[in-house]
Amino acid sequence: MALHDRDRIFRNIYGHHDVSLAGAQKRGVWDGTKAFIDRGHDWIINEVKASGLRGRGGAGFPTGLKWSFMPKADARPSYLVINADESEPGSCKDREIMRHDAHVLVEGALLASFAMRAHVCYVYVRGEFVREREALQRAVDEAYAAKLIGKNNLNGWDFDLYVHHGAGAYICGEETAMLESLEGKKGQPRMKPPFPANVGLYGAPTTVNNVESIAVTGEILRRGAVWFAGIGKPNNTGTKLFQISGHVERPCVVEEEMGIPLKDLLERHCGGVRGGWNNLLAVIPGGSSMPLVTEADCQSLTMDFDACAKVSKGLGTAAIIVMDKSTDIIAAIRRLAYFYKHESCGQCTPCREGTGWMWRILERMERGQSSHAEIDMLWDVTKQIEGHTICALGEAAAWPVQGLIKNFRPVIEARIDQFTATRHAAE
Ligand code: SF4
Repeated sequence: MALHDRDRIFRNIYGHHDVSLAGAQKRGVWDGTKAFIDRGHDWIINEVKASGLRGRGGAGFPTGLKWSFMPKADARPSYLVINADESEPGSCKDREIMRHDAHVLVEGALLASFAMRAHVCYVYVRGEFVREREALQRAVDEAYAAKLIGKNNLNGWDFDLYVHHGAGAYICGEETAMLESLEGKKGQPRMKPPFPANVGLYGAPTTVNNVESIAVTGEILRRGAVWFAGIGKPNNTGTKLFQISGHVERPCVVEEEMGIPLKDLLERHCGGVRGGWNNLLAVIPGGSSMPLVTEADCQSLTMDFDACAKVSKGLGTAAIIVMDKSTDIIAAIRRLAYFYKHESCGQCTPCREGTGWMWRILERMERGQSSHAEIDMLWDVTKQIEGHTICALGEAAAWPVQGLIKNFRPVIEARIDQFTATRHAAE
């Protein structure tokens, strides 16, 4: 079943309609916001819990539960930080929300902050997102001018929202590196514990949420938790912005129900795989940090947290990178390896050194200048990185390489054999 238009949360994701406050209000945004606040902090948290919403930034942690970790009484202020860093290759949904539907984010920020007793929220926008930052700031300014947010606002909860522009480092999308960066320091991940809900921004309780997780809050409260929970599959509820890039006829960002079969998603919204389904080589289902999935596993793959965890490592950001049979799969993973090497913050030796090792080995493997034994050595390097670092960039770098070796070892071996044969022939 395709998602019905009436169930879409993002009704201006393509920017076809008025992006101003007046346009957003015509679409129902800011409708009933005060009434939700009047029902209290716990009512909002319980509704979000009942909706089954899981974080849309990658990990899929239940959002309402995360909010409930924030202290109810603490001398320190509480903060909400919205992660709009969106730097994962393949991910391009949050920027569409900021460009075209920013009021759903501003309203969601107020509601989520109220639920967690926070009077201040920061939106940390990726450095390259200049137009997105401008569009979001316009929406924030409109909300202030209409007294929807700010001191003594019409909704009854004093609330300030600051748009912070990053400088373009991928690692600042990691929640604790983001907090360091917001504090004006070098964006490097912190050791956990303590977790941000205890010691976050400026040493105070903080929750960091993805743009999409916050942006759906208003509509969940308006239509009710039961409505959201009724879309998708058990434990994988609601709608989701999927981002499809690569070798499809029409790459796009589209809101669909969680759990839609991958094949349906590609055929219904993207015109299918370039050259037809039989021309499919592999898909990276959740952003470039996830292992690739072969065509055989894609046949029955549904796009939800639990199904993707079985064949890849998870749904991630639901950024689907499609590769057809024209793809040099070793070169593709080598290029991703370079990205993670470049973006490593350098704090942990396994990540700082290991990402470079993986990239250099893959560079040679792409040309076939390697040995069969070195494939196992490369696998060992990924295992020395995985689980041995401060933040998840280690895994993000290691998993695509593991996916390559696990699924395409014969391709690597054939490349090596071909190079060896050519060299011997020349001798
Ligand atoms: Fe930095 Fe990499 Fe360590 Fe993360 S895993 S803290 S990016 S060195």
